[in-house]
Amino acid sequence: MGKALIIGCGGVASVAIHKCCQNSEVFEEICIASRTVSKCDALKEKLQGTTKTKITTAQVDADNVEELVALIRKVQPDVVLNLALPYQDLHIMDACLETGVHYVDTANYEPEDTAKFEYKWQWAYKERYEKAGITALLGSGFDPGVTSVFSAYALKHYFDEINYIDILDCNAGDHGYPFATNFNPEINIREVSAKGSYWENAHWVETEPMEIKRVYDFPEIGEKDMYLLHHEEIESLALNIPGIKRIRFFMTFGESYLTHLRCLENVGMTSIEPIMYEGKEIIPLQFLKAVLPDPSSLGPRTKGKTNIGCIFTGKKDGVEKTIYIYNTCDHQECYKEVGSQAVAYTTGVPAMIGTMMLMTGTWQGPGVFNIEEFDPDPFMDALNKWGLPWKIKENPDLVD
Ligand code: NDP
Repeated sequence: MGKALIIGCGGVASVAIHKCCQNSEVFEEICIASRTVSKCDALKEKLQGTTKTKITTAQVDADNVEELVALIRKVQPDVVLNLALPYQDLHIMDACLETGVHYVDTANYEPEDTAKFEYKWQWAYKERYEKAGITALLGSGFDPGVTSVFSAYALKHYFDEINYIDILDCNAGDHGYPFATNFNPEINIREVSAKGSYWENAHWVETEPMEIKRVYDFPEIGEKDMYLLHHEEIESLALNIPGIKRIRFFMTFGESYLTHLRCLENVGMTSIEPIMYEGKEIIPLQFLKAVLPDPSSLGPRTKGKTNIGCIFTGKKDGVEKTIYIYNTCDHQECYKEVGSQAVAYTTGVPAMIGTMMLMTGTWQGPGVFNIEEFDPDPFMDALNKWGLPWKIKENPDLVD
């Protein structure tokens, strides 16, 4: 049916590429393009012969708009799927604009020198995308992504208005290392060491990092400590879910992770301020990334499950009700299927599905959209079909 250009070939991209290759009716052809082309070639080597999808590869610096434009003109994709880092979002959006090709990503733009998590830079493209007649689909991972689709689905089928959303992200996987991150370490540590915040009564409420702790008894996992974080989907859901009074995001962390993080912070290793080292400028956090385990190597060693979902409280026909929509995913089952752990899997599958929604024309409309703005039903069906089945629990335990 079409052709996708996938930019980036790390942990999340590897899963999305496996899934595109399983779905060769839609993905007749993919081009995998990244900074290190040998990684793209190795993945192509592994997958071709197992799929009808034609695979090509290319080297690209996604910070160079001219290079991106030349590549898009050469490949002529229907959609560009950005699975590089958030720093590249605007460059890739510029290149899509110049070439008139749809754009999909999984994480909002962050300037490299300040840890700021806001949609304002990407929303600023709305008018230009409308004029160009192309679609940008923002945040097609799990969170943001599936959690936002769960919100749209709950609103469509279960509520007249949703007043409270708690997004709960639990990773109960054990990789056996004292400290490792499940996706890009630099991006992960920027996110978890930032101040926390939540949306309440039309305002942001800011907290110190990890200041608010709760314990929750997760289905299929059990009790885990979780901490309130700022998370990007709060910003768009606050606009797109009418009647909302409060949205919070919690993520589970083990004691070992938190102790290591605190020590690394205390000695300045998580700083994004450049320092001079042996006559060369380095960024401590980027150096730390280089010595930590590569998340894409965690697949064989990670055991246990993830559980990510949302608890919604609102009103239907004047009566208050609460439901919990969630997915659980087993690290080792993911590894058996695609050679990756569940955090990469739960992001890569929705990245493929979002791309498919644009490629098939199931979702369309010129402009820049957060994922909850489209009809959730076809996406929810696709989650069941492509490896992330979800469940609904009525009257779940509440967070407080
Ligand atoms: P990785 O670091 O494993 O992969 C990133 C890839 O992008 C690498 O292949 C890297 O190339 C490539 N890349 C980086 N810079 C450039 C550049 N300038 N030009 C071309 N390619 C480049 O990251 P992950 O796979 O863990 O994460 C990918 C994305 O997914 C991130 O944006 C992350 O925030 C997002 N994410 C979203 C989640 C969600 O639920 N919404 C959850 C988890 C992650 P090289 O191999 O040379 O380093």
